[in-house]
Amino acid sequence: MALRDVFMSLSENQLLNGMAQKYGLRMGAQSVVAGTTIPEVVETIKELNKANISCTVDNLGEFVFEKSAATAAKANILEVIQAIHDENLDAHISLKPSQLGQDIDIDFCYENLKEIVSVAHGYGIFVNFDMENYARLQSSFDLLEKLHVEYDNVGTVIQAYFFESEANIEKYKNFRLRIVKGAYKENPDVAYQSKEDIDEAYLRLIEQHLLIGKFTSIATHDHNVINHVKKFVKDNNIPNDKFEFQMLYGFRKEMQYDLAKEGYNFCTYLPFGNDWYGYFMRRLAERPQNLALVSKQVFTKKTNTVIAVGAATFLLGRLSKKSKKVKK
Ligand SMILES: Cc1cc2nc3c(=O)[nH]c(=O)nc-3n(C[C@H](O)[C@H](O)[C@H](O)COP(=O)(O)OP(=O)(O)OC[C@H]3O[C@@H](n4cnc5c(N)ncnc54)[C@H](O)[C@@H]3O)c2cc1C
Repeated sequence: MALRDVFMSLSENQLLNGMAQKYGLRMGAQSVVAGTTIPEVVETIKELNKANISCTVDNLGEFVFEKSAATAAKANILEVIQAIHDENLDAHISLKPSQLGQDIDIDFCYENLKEIVSVAHGYGIFVNFDMENYARLQSSFDLLEKLHVEYDNVGTVIQAYFFESEANIEKYKNFRLRIVKGAYKENPDVAYQSKEDIDEAYLRLIEQHLLIGKFTSIATHDHNVINHVKKFVKDNNIPNDKFEFQMLYGFRKEMQYDLAKEGYNFCTYLPFGNDWYGYFMRRLAERPQNLALVSKQVFTKKTNTVIAVGAATFLLGRLSKKSKKVKK
């Protein structure tokens, strides 16, 4: 099992997820999660806005199997929308349909999404549907298309590792799209597996959507991709107001500020809330160097919870076994 797979399987561990929620931000997650409350997120947005950085706010939430949990998530997201409006923040919403009941009852999920999108529409706030695993892909597109009939403030994500993404860019060309490499483990019958193939597909899709002319969010920490895009937009006379770069909160902070200073639209993805565990594990899966975030916290601060020590020991134990096998 590759190190990436270890973290991906940890990200799906409901027991650790439940325990992590009880104990608040731990294990270094506080470096990449913008707090657990709306006032904390609002403060972070204000700071970033001062540097001409806009934000997309994600109310973290995984493993939603009951309608009450989806209804609570909807209420939180509505509160964030209200705060964005009241505080006049440069920010929009990112949400996961699964958090709003996609795996429970699709009509119930649609109603939840519709309420959120409609309130956001009233305030001129954009709502982006994050994309999760392949099993949810088509139903997420279906929800989006249905909402788009009435509301133009919705868009979604195209994951470069899927073979069908080129066709989906064409199909959803009227949508504002965020283009990413893809964060989940997918089967070889639907998705590229090698980094080279994914990177190549990623550049192709970005260029395809930029040339269509709809607003494109290029969401990556990869400087090679960013440099490629800078040259591509220049060569093709694509104006700055047709695209933005996006990165996750806490990653390559200096580069985020630099891109904004250079005059590019820049948007930071701000996850917040108690349900940080799965998100954090996926970040470790993407880039094991992010373990520095964990070790710094665990070994220099006295974490006073069983979960922090237990999970970190598990992670680091796995790492020491696996790291010998990981090629640099
Ligand atoms: C804003 C945003 C939203 C996203 N939304 C989704 C979504 O809805 N669905 C989904 O499946 N995925 C999503 N992702 C995750 C995405 O799919 C990738 O898994 C993730 O971004 C890692 O790929 P990468 O393009 O950043 O570069 P990688 O392939 O991880 O890295 C490429 C190179 O960039 C450099 N690099 C990367 N990170 C760092 C760093 N922290 N510090 C220094 N150098 C670094 C290294 O040289 C590395 O080799 C999102 C990502 C972002 C940024």
